[in-house]
Amino acid sequence: MDYEHFCIVLSGPSGVGKTTISRRLLEMDDNLALSISFTTRKCKAGEIEGLHYFFVDEDKFEYLIASRALLEYTYVYGNYYGTARETLECFFEKGKDVILDIDFEGALNFKRILGPRSLLIYLLPPTLLELKKRLENRMREDEKEISKRFSEFKDEFKYFPLYDYWIINDDLESAVNDISNIINCERMRIKRLVNLPEGFFK
Ligand code: ADP
Ligand code: 5GP
Repeated sequence: MDYEHFCIVLSGPSGVGKTTISRRLLEMDDNLALSISFTTRKCKAGEIEGLHYFFVDEDKFEYLIASRALLEYTYVYGNYYGTARETLECFFEKGKDVILDIDFEGALNFKRILGPRSLLIYLLPPTLLELKKRLENRMREDEKEISKRFSEFKDEFKYFPLYDYWIINDDLESAVNDISNIINCERMRIKRLVNLPEGFFK
């Protein structure tokens, strides 16, 4: 069936499992693609240009804003992050639904701009203690950065009711399956249907 493709916006506190879950979904579903954002943040050890982000300087980012190349952008943790319109359009044309790992501001902008072509999913940890453990085990941020991200999460949590779905990422397999089921159900929504298969009424 030919349906109108949409964006799946995954949000949730840093360390909850957004990257891990996105990767799993992409492995199991050929009709999904990942949107790579632009950022002015410095590339961290283990990150790859064009795979994790497109790393640019502030001048380039400002140019992207001025030329309206970005569908949305935000300033978090001292850096700019943004999604290019072209990225989404290319994937939609190729018949893919697009996963995005973006903050709550970006998610709400997506809802405002794309309306029903956005599906907002909020990932929660089983407990805050477990979230802290995951962040510490990941060993990417120092203690100061971790507590900064923690307090930002507590602030952003007020936007939680504006999301379409919530998932607790306790057991990874269950969380991945739940999200995959949500995506598949959304694909079958009549409001997304563009055309019935050719010759359907013959
Ligand atoms: P995010 O992208 O939301 O910041 P990550 O995907 O990087 O989070 O996950 C943070 C850490 O938690 C990683 O070390 C990852 O392997 C681990 N993790 C993710 N999901 C689970 C889970 N369900 N159970 C235990 N550890 C998990
Ligand atoms: P990190 O530095 O951990 O990679 O990302 C920091 C935050 O920026 C995360 O909350 C992430 O979801 C968010 N983010 C990444 N890309 C984008 C984007 O294109 N737009 C918005 N609004 N947020 C983004």
